[in-house]
Amino acid sequence: KSFEDLGLSPSILQGLYAMKFLKPSKIQERALPLLMHNPPTNMIGQSQSGTGKTAAFTLNILSRLELDTEEMRKTPQALILAPSRELARQIGGVISEMGRFVENLSVGMAVPTEGKRPARLEHAVVCGTPGTVMDLIKKRVLIVNKLKVLVLDEADNMLDQQGLGDQCIRVKGFLPKTIQVVLFSATFDDQIRLYAAKFAPNANEISL
Ligand code: AMP
Repeated sequence: KSFEDLGLSPSILQGLYAMKFLKPSKIQERALPLLMHNPPTNMIGQSQSGTGKTAAFTLNILSRLELDTEEMRKTPQALILAPSRELARQIGGVISEMGRFVENLSVGMAVPTEGKRPARLEHAVVCGTPGTVMDLIKKRVLIVNKLKVLVLDEADNMLDQQGLGDQCIRVKGFLPKTIQVVLFSATFDDQIRLYAAKFAPNANEISL
């Protein structure tokens, strides 16, 4: 299987090839048809870092964005939650790079900062940490009503940190009920299994 076979648009393919991603990794080959299927379905994926899961959820997000009008470009459509600001930044970097040829794509961050924040986060994609995301939703800096994809990366890592798992559930409570939820975890013990079932109900499951 090639990236072309997976139904990715020319501008997305261009970004992939510029990054020297020539063919899908195993997780990408298995996850992408499920992620990109319509109507959107939740997905739970077990995969170690290093297997290409970032690209898997990124390609789904890039494929689902609608960037035709100025209004849409400024409205968050995908939200990625990560357990640390470093990881959130890394993911944001990958999405920007992979989406380099996607016209009018803007990626924003919702992580702790000492700097001043804009009154609105006007990006189609937002990556952040759960506490800051919650804070910005409450302050109406992050507008959530047009979100259609929610990704929770490194769920096992999230649950290892006091309160972060609950914070993600709380964030999800503010989002549209029809949002596509995607959860990745390197490990899958009973605790994560239970959490994933709650966070991403009725999900397709893949494990490497
Ligand atoms: P991740 O599992 O998302 O942390 O990615 C692991 C590493 O694999 C990253 O350095 C990616 O740049 C690289 N990578 C992911 N998918 C592909 C691919 N299809 N072809 C080549 N490299 C890839």
